[in-house]
Amino acid sequence: MSTGARICETDGCGKESRLQCPTCIKLGIEGSYFCSQECFKDNWATHKAVHKKQRMKDHLAKSEYKNLWPGYVYTGTLRPHSVSPKRMVLPNIEKPDYADHVNGYPASEMAVRGSTQIKVLNSDDIATLREACRLGREVLDIAYGAVKVGVTTDEIDQVVHEACMERNCYPSPLNYHQFPKSCCTSVNEVICHGIPDGRPLEDGDILNIDITVYYKGFHGDLNETFFVGKVDEKSKKLVNVAYECLMQAIDAVHPGVRYRELGNIIMKHAQTNGCSVVRTYCGHGIHRLFHTAPSVPHYSKNKAIGVMKPGHAFTIEPMISEGTWKDQTWPDNWTAVTEDGKRSAQFEHTLLVTETGCEVLTIRPELNRRGHFLDQLDKEETSQ
Ligand SMILES: [Zn+2]
Ligand SMILES: [Zn+2]
Repeated sequence: MSTGARICETDGCGKESRLQCPTCIKLGIEGSYFCSQECFKDNWATHKAVHKKQRMKDHLAKSEYKNLWPGYVYTGTLRPHSVSPKRMVLPNIEKPDYADHVNGYPASEMAVRGSTQIKVLNSDDIATLREACRLGREVLDIAYGAVKVGVTTDEIDQVVHEACMERNCYPSPLNYHQFPKSCCTSVNEVICHGIPDGRPLEDGDILNIDITVYYKGFHGDLNETFFVGKVDEKSKKLVNVAYECLMQAIDAVHPGVRYRELGNIIMKHAQTNGCSVVRTYCGHGIHRLFHTAPSVPHYSKNKAIGVMKPGHAFTIEPMISEGTWKDQTWPDNWTAVTEDGKRSAQFEHTLLVTETGCEVLTIRPELNRRGHFLDQLDKEETSQ
Protein backbone atom coordinates (compact mmCIF):
# COMPACT_ATOMS: atom_id res chain seq x y z
CA MET A 1 0.00 0.00 0.00
CA SER A 2 2.38 2.62 -1.21
CA THR A 3 0.98 6.06 -1.85
CA GLY A 4 4.28 7.86 -2.36
CA ALA A 5 3.44 10.24 0.44
CA ARG A 6 5.93 10.45 3.29
CA ILE A 7 4.93 10.51 6.92
CA CYS A 8 6.68 12.78 9.43
CA GLU A 9 9.41 11.02 11.46
CA THR A 10 8.06 12.44 14.72
CA ASP A 11 6.37 9.75 16.76
CA GLY A 12 2.60 10.18 16.60
CA CYS A 13 2.71 13.21 14.25
CA GLY A 14 1.36 11.36 11.22
CA LYS A 15 1.35 14.43 8.91
CA GLU A 16 2.39 14.19 5.30
CA SER A 17 5.97 15.46 4.89
CA ARG A 18 8.17 16.77 2.14
CA LEU A 19 11.11 18.18 4.12
CA GLN A 20 14.06 15.85 4.31
CA CYS A 21 16.84 16.19 6.88
CA PRO A 22 19.76 17.82 5.01
CA THR A 23 22.39 15.88 6.97
CA CYS A 24 20.66 12.63 6.07
CA ILE A 25 20.73 13.61 2.39
CA LYS A 26 24.46 14.34 2.66
CA LEU A 27 25.13 11.04 4.42
CA GLY A 28 22.96 9.08 1.98
CA ILE A 29 20.42 8.01 4.60
CA GLU A 30 17.06 7.22 3.02
CA GLY A 31 13.82 8.60 4.44
CA SER A 32 14.01 10.99 7.43
CA TYR A 33 11.16 13.28 6.36
CA PHE A 34 9.66 15.88 8.64
CA CYS A 35 6.43 17.83 8.23
CA SER A 36 7.89 21.13 9.46
CA GLN A 37 10.96 22.88 10.79
CA GLU A 38 9.36 22.73 14.26
CA CYS A 39 8.92 18.96 14.15
CA PHE A 40 12.50 18.64 12.88
CA LYS A 41 13.83 20.83 15.69
CA ASP A 42 11.85 18.97 18.37
CA ASN A 43 13.22 15.69 17.07
CA TRP A 44 16.81 16.78 16.74
CA ALA A 45 18.12 15.38 20.03
CA THR A 46 17.08 11.83 19.12
CA HIS A 47 17.36 12.12 15.34
CA LYS A 48 21.04 13.07 15.35
CA ALA A 49 21.90 9.59 16.66
CA VAL A 50 21.00 8.33 13.17
CA HIS A 51 23.79 10.49 11.74
CA LYS A 52 26.28 9.30 14.31
CA LYS A 53 25.54 5.68 13.49
CA GLN A 54 25.92 6.27 9.77
CA ARG A 55 29.19 8.21 10.22
CA MET A 56 30.58 5.32 12.27
CA LYS A 57 29.59 2.88 9.53
CA ASP A 58 31.21 5.09 6.88
CA HIS A 59 34.33 5.37 8.98
CA LEU A 60 34.67 1.59 9.23
CA ALA A 61 33.91 1.18 5.53
CA LYS A 62 36.64 3.65 4.59
CA SER A 63 39.23 1.99 6.83
CA GLU A 64 41.73 0.35 4.53
CA TYR A 65 41.70 -2.71 6.76
CA LYS A 66 38.00 -3.41 6.51
CA ASN A 67 38.58 -6.31 4.15
CA LEU A 68 42.02 -7.28 5.37
CA TRP A 69 40.76 -10.66 6.52
CA PRO A 70 37.64 -11.49 4.50
CA GLY A 71 35.35 -13.78 6.40
CA TYR A 72 36.98 -13.23 9.79
CA VAL A 73 34.35 -12.54 12.42
CA TYR A 74 35.67 -10.16 15.08
CA THR A 75 34.79 -10.98 18.67
CA GLY A 76 34.58 -7.32 19.73
CA THR A 77 34.61 -3.80 18.31
CA LEU A 78 38.37 -3.30 17.93
CA ARG A 79 39.78 -3.41 14.39
CA PRO A 80 43.34 -3.55 13.07
CA HIS A 81 44.83 -0.43 11.50
CA SER A 82 47.88 0.04 9.30
CA VAL A 83 51.26 -1.06 10.70
CA SER A 84 54.25 1.17 9.99
CA PRO A 85 57.54 -0.22 8.59
CA LYS A 86 59.96 -2.00 10.91
CA ARG A 87 62.07 0.45 12.89
CA MET A 88 65.85 0.55 12.49
CA VAL A 89 68.15 -0.49 15.31
CA LEU A 90 71.38 1.47 15.79
CA PRO A 91 74.42 -0.56 14.69
CA ASN A 92 76.19 -0.27 18.07
CA ILE A 93 73.38 -2.06 19.93
CA GLU A 94 73.89 -5.70 20.95
CA LYS A 95 71.19 -7.89 19.42
CA PRO A 96 69.70 -11.26 20.36
CA ASP A 97 70.15 -14.12 17.88
CA TYR A 98 66.69 -13.78 16.29
CA ALA A 99 67.04 -10.05 15.55
CA ASP A 100 68.45 -10.49 12.04
CA HIS A 101 67.11 -13.96 11.32
CA VAL A 102 64.80 -14.05 8.32
CA ASN A 103 62.11 -15.93 10.28
CA GLY A 104 62.94 -14.32 13.62
CA TYR A 105 64.01 -17.73 14.87
CA PRO A 106 65.43 -17.64 18.43
CA ALA A 107 67.95 -20.46 17.97
CA SER A 108 69.36 -20.36 21.50
CA GLU A 109 65.87 -20.64 22.95
CA MET A 110 64.81 -23.41 20.60
CA ALA A 111 67.91 -25.43 21.47
CA VAL A 112 66.57 -25.98 25.01
CA ARG A 113 62.89 -26.08 24.11
CA GLY A 114 61.05 -28.77 26.04
CA SER A 115 63.63 -28.85 28.81
CA THR A 116 62.18 -28.20 32.25
CA GLN A 117 65.56 -27.46 33.80
CA ILE A 118 65.60 -24.04 35.43
CA LYS A 119 68.86 -22.11 35.29
CA VAL A 120 70.32 -20.82 38.56
CA LEU A 121 71.91 -17.45 37.86
CA ASN A 122 75.28 -16.49 39.34
CA SER A 123 75.93 -13.09 40.89
CA ASP A 124 77.30 -11.57 37.66
CA ASP A 125 74.24 -12.77 35.75
CA ILE A 126 72.00 -11.33 38.43
CA ALA A 127 73.73 -7.95 38.34
CA THR A 128 73.23 -7.67 34.57
CA LEU A 129 69.65 -8.97 34.67
CA ARG A 130 68.92 -6.37 37.34
CA GLU A 131 70.27 -3.65 35.02
CA ALA A 132 68.18 -4.90 32.07
CA CYS A 133 65.05 -4.91 34.24
CA ARG A 134 65.72 -1.42 35.58
CA LEU A 135 66.11 -0.11 32.02
CA GLY A 136 62.93 -1.93 30.97
CA ARG A 137 61.11 -0.16 33.80
CA GLU A 138 62.43 3.22 32.62
CA VAL A 139 61.18 2.49 29.10
CA LEU A 140 57.71 1.49 30.35
CA ASP A 141 57.48 4.67 32.45
CA ILE A 142 58.37 6.76 29.39
CA ALA A 143 55.80 4.87 27.29
CA TYR A 144 53.19 5.57 29.95
CA GLY A 145 53.98 9.28 29.63
CA ALA A 146 52.89 9.12 25.98
CA VAL A 147 49.47 7.54 26.67
CA LYS A 148 46.75 10.05 25.76
CA VAL A 149 43.44 10.16 23.88
CA GLY A 150 44.22 10.52 20.17
CA VAL A 151 47.76 9.12 20.31
CA THR A 152 48.21 6.02 18.15
CA THR A 153 49.79 2.85 19.49
CA ASP A 154 52.31 3.19 16.65
CA GLU A 155 53.40 6.52 18.14
CA ILE A 156 53.82 4.80 21.51
CA ASP A 157 55.90 2.12 19.80
CA GLN A 158 58.14 4.84 18.40
CA VAL A 159 58.60 6.36 21.85
CA VAL A 160 59.47 2.89 23.20
CA HIS A 161 61.90 2.20 20.38
CA GLU A 162 63.74 5.49 20.84
CA ALA A 163 63.89 5.07 24.63
CA CYS A 164 65.50 1.66 24.03
CA MET A 165 68.05 3.11 21.62
CA GLU A 166 68.96 5.84 24.11
CA ARG A 167 69.69 3.17 26.72
CA ASN A 168 71.69 0.91 24.42
CA CYS A 169 68.92 -1.68 24.61
CA TYR A 170 67.45 -3.83 21.87
CA PRO A 171 63.62 -3.96 22.07
CA SER A 172 63.23 -7.72 22.54
CA PRO A 173 59.85 -8.17 20.79
CA LEU A 174 61.21 -6.76 17.50
CA ASN A 175 61.47 -9.66 15.01
CA TYR A 176 61.00 -12.28 17.75
CA HIS A 177 59.31 -15.01 15.69
CA GLN A 178 58.81 -12.10 13.26
CA PHE A 179 56.83 -9.88 15.61
CA PRO A 180 56.85 -6.61 13.63
CA LYS A 181 57.15 -3.96 16.37
CA SER A 182 59.23 -2.97 19.41
CA CYS A 183 56.57 -3.55 22.09
CA CYS A 184 53.10 -5.05 22.46
CA THR A 185 50.11 -2.73 22.87
CA SER A 186 46.91 -4.51 23.85
CA VAL A 187 43.70 -2.47 23.85
CA ASN A 188 40.37 -3.43 25.49
CA GLU A 189 39.46 -6.99 24.38
CA VAL A 190 43.04 -7.72 23.34
CA ILE A 191 44.52 -10.08 25.92
CA CYS A 192 48.16 -9.77 24.85
CA HIS A 193 50.51 -9.48 21.84
CA GLY A 194 48.62 -6.58 20.25
CA ILE A 195 50.61 -5.03 17.41
CA PRO A 196 51.13 -1.24 17.64
CA ASP A 197 49.30 0.34 14.70
CA GLY A 198 47.64 3.50 13.42
CA ARG A 199 44.59 3.35 15.68
CA PRO A 200 44.28 6.48 17.84
CA LEU A 201 43.54 5.73 21.50
CA GLU A 202 39.97 6.55 22.45
CA ASP A 203 38.55 8.02 25.64
CA GLY A 204 37.65 5.08 27.89
CA ASP A 205 40.10 2.55 26.41
CA ILE A 206 42.27 0.40 28.61
CA LEU A 207 45.76 -0.13 27.21
CA ASN A 208 48.39 -2.65 28.22
CA ILE A 209 51.96 -1.89 27.20
CA ASP A 210 54.34 -4.84 27.40
CA ILE A 211 58.03 -3.94 27.32
CA THR A 212 61.00 -6.24 27.11
CA VAL A 213 64.52 -4.93 26.63
CA TYR A 214 67.70 -6.85 25.83
CA TYR A 215 70.79 -5.41 27.49
CA LYS A 216 74.28 -6.93 27.73
CA GLY A 217 72.87 -10.36 26.91
CA PHE A 218 69.86 -10.32 29.29
CA HIS A 219 66.14 -9.69 28.82
CA GLY A 220 64.02 -7.72 31.32
CA ASP A 221 60.25 -8.03 30.87
CA LEU A 222 57.32 -6.12 32.40
CA ASN A 223 53.90 -4.77 31.53
CA GLU A 224 51.13 -2.62 32.98
CA THR A 225 47.59 -1.72 31.99
CA PHE A 226 46.73 2.00 31.85
CA PHE A 227 43.55 4.04 31.60
CA VAL A 228 43.02 6.24 28.55
CA GLY A 229 40.96 9.29 29.49
CA LYS A 230 37.91 8.51 31.57
CA VAL A 231 37.37 4.77 32.00
CA ASP A 232 34.13 3.15 33.23
CA GLU A 233 33.87 1.59 36.71
CA LYS A 234 33.73 -1.96 35.39
CA SER A 235 37.07 -1.54 33.60
CA LYS A 236 38.64 0.08 36.66
CA LYS A 237 37.65 -2.92 38.70
CA LEU A 238 39.01 -5.35 36.12
CA VAL A 239 42.37 -3.58 35.97
CA ASN A 240 42.56 -3.47 39.76
CA VAL A 241 41.80 -7.19 40.06
CA ALA A 242 44.50 -8.04 37.52
CA TYR A 243 46.99 -5.92 39.50
CA GLU A 244 46.04 -7.54 42.80
CA CYS A 245 46.35 -11.01 41.24
CA LEU A 246 49.95 -10.26 40.28
CA MET A 247 50.85 -8.71 43.64
CA GLN A 248 49.33 -11.57 45.62
CA ALA A 249 51.23 -14.12 43.54
CA ILE A 250 54.48 -12.19 44.07
CA ASP A 251 53.93 -12.31 47.85
CA ALA A 252 53.96 -16.10 47.62
CA VAL A 253 57.32 -16.35 45.88
CA HIS A 254 59.85 -18.01 48.24
CA PRO A 255 62.45 -20.74 47.89
CA GLY A 256 60.78 -24.15 48.12
CA VAL A 257 57.40 -23.05 46.71
CA ARG A 258 56.16 -24.98 43.68
CA TYR A 259 55.63 -22.94 40.52
CA ARG A 260 52.25 -24.58 40.08
CA GLU A 261 51.05 -22.97 43.34
CA LEU A 262 50.94 -19.44 41.85
CA GLY A 263 47.99 -20.27 39.59
CA ASN A 264 45.87 -21.27 42.58
CA ILE A 265 46.41 -17.88 44.23
CA ILE A 266 45.71 -15.91 41.05
CA MET A 267 42.61 -17.86 40.04
CA LYS A 268 41.12 -17.67 43.51
CA HIS A 269 41.38 -13.89 43.60
CA ALA A 270 40.11 -13.49 40.04
CA GLN A 271 37.08 -15.71 40.56
CA THR A 272 36.22 -14.17 43.93
CA ASN A 273 35.89 -10.91 42.00
CA GLY A 274 33.83 -12.36 39.16
CA CYS A 275 36.68 -12.43 36.66
CA SER A 276 38.29 -15.26 34.67
CA VAL A 277 41.90 -16.28 34.03
CA VAL A 278 43.33 -16.74 30.51
CA ARG A 279 44.93 -20.18 30.10
CA THR A 280 46.75 -19.99 26.76
CA TYR A 281 49.56 -17.64 27.86
CA CYS A 282 51.87 -18.20 30.83
CA GLY A 283 54.67 -16.55 32.76
CA HIS A 284 58.14 -17.78 31.85
CA GLY A 285 61.73 -18.12 32.87
CA ILE A 286 63.82 -15.20 31.62
CA HIS A 287 67.54 -14.33 31.55
CA ARG A 288 69.76 -14.75 28.49
CA LEU A 289 66.69 -16.32 26.88
CA PHE A 290 63.46 -14.33 26.41
CA HIS A 291 61.12 -17.24 27.12
CA THR A 292 62.33 -20.44 28.77
CA ALA A 293 61.72 -22.81 31.71
CA PRO A 294 59.87 -22.61 34.01
CA SER A 295 56.44 -22.20 32.46
CA VAL A 296 54.21 -20.40 34.96
CA PRO A 297 50.47 -20.90 34.32
CA HIS A 298 48.10 -18.46 36.01
CA TYR A 299 45.16 -20.86 36.47
CA SER A 300 44.57 -23.30 39.31
CA LYS A 301 45.28 -27.03 39.36
CA ASN A 302 47.95 -26.60 36.68
CA LYS A 303 50.77 -29.08 36.19
CA ALA A 304 53.71 -26.66 36.10
CA ILE A 305 57.04 -28.33 36.80
CA GLY A 306 59.62 -27.00 39.23
CA VAL A 307 60.29 -25.65 42.68
CA MET A 308 61.58 -22.11 43.32
CA LYS A 309 65.27 -21.81 44.21
CA PRO A 310 67.43 -18.76 44.90
CA GLY A 311 68.85 -17.55 41.60
CA HIS A 312 65.78 -18.42 39.49
CA ALA A 313 64.44 -15.56 37.38
CA PHE A 314 60.95 -15.68 35.91
CA THR A 315 57.88 -13.60 35.16
CA ILE A 316 54.35 -13.67 36.52
CA GLU A 317 51.90 -11.99 34.14
CA PRO A 318 48.26 -12.89 34.77
CA MET A 319 45.77 -12.00 32.04
CA ILE A 320 42.39 -11.45 33.70
CA SER A 321 39.18 -11.21 31.68
CA GLU A 322 35.76 -9.73 32.41
CA GLY A 323 33.86 -12.56 30.72
CA THR A 324 35.10 -15.84 29.31
CA TRP A 325 38.67 -17.10 29.88
CA LYS A 326 38.72 -18.33 26.28
CA ASP A 327 40.86 -16.57 23.71
CA GLN A 328 41.30 -16.58 19.98
CA THR A 329 43.92 -15.11 17.69
CA TRP A 330 43.42 -12.60 14.89
CA PRO A 331 44.56 -13.69 11.42
CA ASP A 332 47.72 -11.61 11.99
CA ASN A 333 48.79 -14.64 14.09
CA TRP A 334 49.65 -12.43 17.07
CA THR A 335 46.75 -10.45 18.48
CA ALA A 336 45.06 -12.55 21.18
CA VAL A 337 41.49 -11.43 21.92
CA THR A 338 38.77 -12.62 24.26
CA GLU A 339 36.30 -14.95 22.60
CA ASP A 340 33.33 -12.88 23.83
CA GLY A 341 34.83 -9.48 22.99
CA LYS A 342 34.81 -8.38 26.63
CA ARG A 343 37.82 -6.66 28.13
CA SER A 344 40.99 -8.23 29.51
CA ALA A 345 43.74 -6.68 31.65
CA GLN A 346 47.28 -7.73 32.57
CA PHE A 347 50.27 -6.85 34.74
CA GLU A 348 53.74 -8.37 34.65
CA HIS A 349 56.95 -8.27 36.64
CA THR A 350 60.29 -10.04 36.29
CA LEU A 351 61.25 -11.62 39.62
CA LEU A 352 64.39 -13.06 41.15
CA VAL A 353 64.04 -15.73 43.82
CA THR A 354 66.26 -14.83 46.80
CA GLU A 355 67.17 -16.69 50.01
CA THR A 356 64.30 -15.03 51.85
CA GLY A 357 61.64 -14.45 49.20
CA CYS A 358 62.00 -12.52 45.99
CA GLU A 359 63.26 -9.33 44.47
CA VAL A 360 60.89 -7.62 42.03
CA LEU A 361 63.41 -6.57 39.43
CA THR A 362 60.99 -4.45 37.38
CA ILE A 363 59.30 -2.60 40.26
CA ARG A 364 58.93 1.20 40.09
CA PRO A 365 61.69 2.97 42.01
CA GLU A 366 61.64 2.85 45.82
CA LEU A 367 59.19 5.50 46.96
CA ASN A 368 56.55 4.76 44.37
CA ARG A 369 56.36 1.02 43.93
CA ARG A 370 52.78 0.71 42.76
CA GLY A 371 51.09 0.56 39.35
CA HIS A 372 50.61 3.80 37.45
CA PHE A 373 46.87 3.15 37.16
CA LEU A 374 46.56 3.66 40.94
CA ASP A 375 48.09 7.13 40.53
CA GLN A 376 45.58 7.75 37.75
CA LEU A 377 42.74 6.77 40.09
CA ASP A 378 44.05 9.07 42.84
CA LYS A 379 44.32 11.96 40.42
CA GLU A 380 40.74 11.44 39.32
CA GLU A 381 39.54 11.44 42.91
CA THR A 382 41.29 14.65 43.89
CA SER A 383 40.08 16.45 40.76
CA GLN A 384 36.43 15.69 41.54
ZN1 LIG B 1 56.08 -8.97 28.85
ZN1 LIG C 1 56.64 -12.04 29.63
